[in-house]
Amino acid sequence: MIMLDAFFQQARQGRLTAIRCAHCAALAMPPQEACAACRRREWQTVPLEGSGTVASFTVFRVPPRGGASGPPYAVAQVRLREGVSVLGRIVDIPLDALAIGQAVRFRPLVEPHQTGIAFGPAA
Ligand SMILES: [Zn+2]
Repeated sequence: MIMLDAFFQQARQGRLTAIRCAHCAALAMPPQEACAACRRREWQTVPLEGSGTVASFTVFRVPPRGGASGPPYAVAQVRLREGVSVLGRIVDIPLDALAIGQAVRFRPLVEPHQTGIAFGPAA
């Protein structure tokens, strides 16, 4: 899926993007085939500012399969300023300090063969 590749290539370079439906202006991320709102498939890529707040999070205490860094770690649903939400790994925030509503900022989780979405402290 070309748009998904582009999404992760942009993310790897520190740019978080969403896609906007050319028909109804709905935002989506990560990229998907058809607009959930109107079922069309004409998308425009839009840059996101990268700031958001933690909507919910889960702490994992089991090592991720093949993961470079060990547990425990948190994965959060982050609501971005533009109104879309995305799942991302939490980095550089102590787990006992992590809270719903906390301001976070996008950063890429760059590994040799893949790029992950992560969020760190806002400031
Ligand atoms: Zn649409």
